[in-house]
Amino acid sequence: MLINSLPKIVTELPGPKCKLVIEKRSTAIPSAVACSAPFVIDRAEGAMVQDLDGNIFMDWVAGISVLNIGHSNKEVIKAVQDQAERYFHPQINTIHYKEYIDLAETLNNITPGSFKKRTAFFNSGAEGIENAVKIARKYKRRTEIIAFSGGFHGRTYMAMTLTSGNTYRAAFTPLAPGVHRAEFPNEYRTNSNIAKENIVKHYIDQLEYMFVDYLSPESVAAILIEPIQGENGFIAPPAGYIKQLRQICDKHGILLIADEVQTGFCRTGKMFATEYWADEGVYADILVSAKSMAAGIPLSAVTGREEIMQSVQVGEIGGTYGGNPLACASALKVIEIMQRDNFADKAIRIGEKCLPRFAGWYEKYKSIGTYRGTGAMLSLEFVKDRITKEPDPKIAADIINYCKYKGLILKNAGSYNQTVRLLMPLVTTDEQISIGLDMIEEAINKFSIK
Ligand code: PLP
Repeated sequence: MLINSLPKIVTELPGPKCKLVIEKRSTAIPSAVACSAPFVIDRAEGAMVQDLDGNIFMDWVAGISVLNIGHSNKEVIKAVQDQAERYFHPQINTIHYKEYIDLAETLNNITPGSFKKRTAFFNSGAEGIENAVKIARKYKRRTEIIAFSGGFHGRTYMAMTLTSGNTYRAAFTPLAPGVHRAEFPNEYRTNSNIAKENIVKHYIDQLEYMFVDYLSPESVAAILIEPIQGENGFIAPPAGYIKQLRQICDKHGILLIADEVQTGFCRTGKMFATEYWADEGVYADILVSAKSMAAGIPLSAVTGREEIMQSVQVGEIGGTYGGNPLACASALKVIEIMQRDNFADKAIRIGEKCLPRFAGWYEKYKSIGTYRGTGAMLSLEFVKDRITKEPDPKIAADIINYCKYKGLILKNAGSYNQTVRLLMPLVTTDEQISIGLDMIEEAINKFSIK
C-alpha cells in the first residue's frame, strides 16, 4: 500500500511521462506559478506520492500545511463523495444547508474561549484575513491595523499589505492604506546586547512607542499576529509576549486577531496554536483558520466573538462560494477524525522524534544557526556563521534539492529563504519519519560547514 511505502526512485528524474507534462506546463502557465518538483503526481496516500512513472516520494510539504490529515484520507473521500451525490452548491445566501451551519457551530465550540462566537466561511486564507480586517474595522469604527515584520497573510491587496517582504509587495504599490508594522519578537535574531530576560520588554516597548511616535492607539482597530510565524520559518514569540500584547489591546480597546491559517488543525500539538495562549488566559477576539481544515478543498473561516461578528450588516461580507458544502463536509469529517484519533498528540510525538535529532545535528553541523519545533511545526535555520548569524539560503536550497532527488519533498521559509521547514502529514509513520530524517541528515552532512 502506498500509504506505508518508502521513497523509491526508479527512473531518472523527471521520468519520461512526467517530462512531457512538465514541458507542457512550461508553455501553458505563467512562469511565476513556479514549481521545481521533478515529477508529476499520479496518486497519493498519507505522506506518500506516486508519480506518472512509478517513482515514490515522501511529501513533507503537504500542500503547504493543508494536509495535516494526509493525502486521500478514505473517510474524508467518502464524506465528500456522499456530499457530491446530494448537492454541490445551494449558496448560503440563497438556500439553507446544514453543512455550513454544523461546521460553524463546531468551530464556535472548538476554538479557544468559552464566550459566545459566530463563524463565517470564505475560500482562502487571504480572503479570511481580508474579512477579519473588515469586520474588525466595522465593529471598532476605527481604521488602522497593526501587523508584524516577517508576517505572512496572503496575496490579495489587504492581505499582501499586511504581509511583510518585498518579494510579495514591492511590484504592486500603491498598497492598501491603514496598515502599520510592529517588530515581531524573533528571539534568535534579536540584538545580542539585549539580555534574554529583557527581550519581551524590548519588543513591547517598541510597539508602545508607535503610539507615542505617530499612531494614535484610539485609531487602531486590530493587531494581527500569527501565533507561530509560518512563512518566516516557524518562529514563536517568547513566553510572556502574547500576554503583554493582549494587555496593550485591552488598554486601548484594540481587537486581537490570530492568523491560524498555517498553525491550525493540530499542527502545533493542539487543535489551535492559540490554545497555548489560553494556558496564559489570553484569547483572540477573531481567529482566522483555513489550510488543513478541509484537507485540500478551498475553505477558510473567520470565527469571532458574537458581538463583533454581529456588527456587520447584510451584504457587507460574503461571496459566491464561501462555505461550499463539499468543503464543509470535508472539514466536518477532518475535525471528527482529528478529535477521535487525537491528531494533536500525533503532532507532539512527531516533534519528540525530530527535536532530539535536530539537537544532535546542531552539535555536529555549524551551518545550523538554530532549530525550532512546536509539535510538528519543525524547522532548521541555516547561517554562514553562528556569530554573525548571516542567513545561508544556498545551503537550505542545496538540502531541499538533494532530498528531492532522493524522494523527499521539503520547502524553504524565512525572509532570506534560509530555513528548511518540515510539514509532514501527521499520519507519517515512524519508519517514514526516521527515513526522512536520515535523508535530511545526509544532505546536511554533505553541504554543511563541519
Ligand atoms: N496566513 C498565513 C499564516 C499563511 O501561512 C497563509 C498562506 O500560506 C495565508 C494566510 C494565506 O492563505 P492562502 O494562500 O490560502 O490565501
